[in-house]
Amino acid sequence: MERVVVHGTLMDVFGVGVLLVGPRGVGKSETALELIRRGHRLVSDDAVIVECDDSYEYPVGRPPENLAGKMEIRLALAELYCPECGRVYTFSALKMKEGCDCGGDLKLRPIQDKIAVDVAELYGIRALRSRKGIGVVIKMIPGPHHPHHDPSMRPDEPVSSTPSEEEKVVKWVKERDGRVFHLDVVPGRDTATLIETVALQESLRRRR
Ligand SMILES: [Zn+2]
Repeated sequence: MERVVVHGTLMDVFGVGVLLVGPRGVGKSETALELIRRGHRLVSDDAVIVECDDSYEYPVGRPPENLAGKMEIRLALAELYCPECGRVYTFSALKMKEGCDCGGDLKLRPIQDKIAVDVAELYGIRALRSRKGIGVVIKMIPGPHHPHHDPSMRPDEPVSSTPSEEEKVVKWVKERDGRVFHLDVVPGRDTATLIETVALQESLRRRR
């Protein structure tokens, strides 16, 4: 049996195991929180242990022991500030390149505001699952207007480096007729509803 640890969030949505992957700050935990609020179940947030061998119907994910039932929600990631005039801007790759309105160079300053969420305490024990087979992988991409979107990037350039662990899980899922989707994350877009729709569609497809 093979085992990898991926940076991502695993949810049970309508009985389908949905693994959310993507760069830090794209909104995996926030999306998971919204799905939990709608009655879906969390397997693991931030890191997922995934095991697979030839006999598995799907690769199976579970939380590392120290993360089980826990989520960390970042309220803010970083801001831009100008050391010369003191102006502060919300983070944007474009603004960082442009520089301050005063003409000075902008610097990035991390913000550490985050809250630790005990999922069972807030949403009840039924909001958790101890393990789940992964039938769908959603690669979340910072879309246009997302603070992490880089407009200078060419369309053929990869949005984020996909580590080999993630690629391995994607391969396992594809080999088992699971689905892999890319999803643009844009402020105001209802990412949770899109993921619910993908999961519903997938659960229907399997019953045919
Ligand atoms: Zn300035």
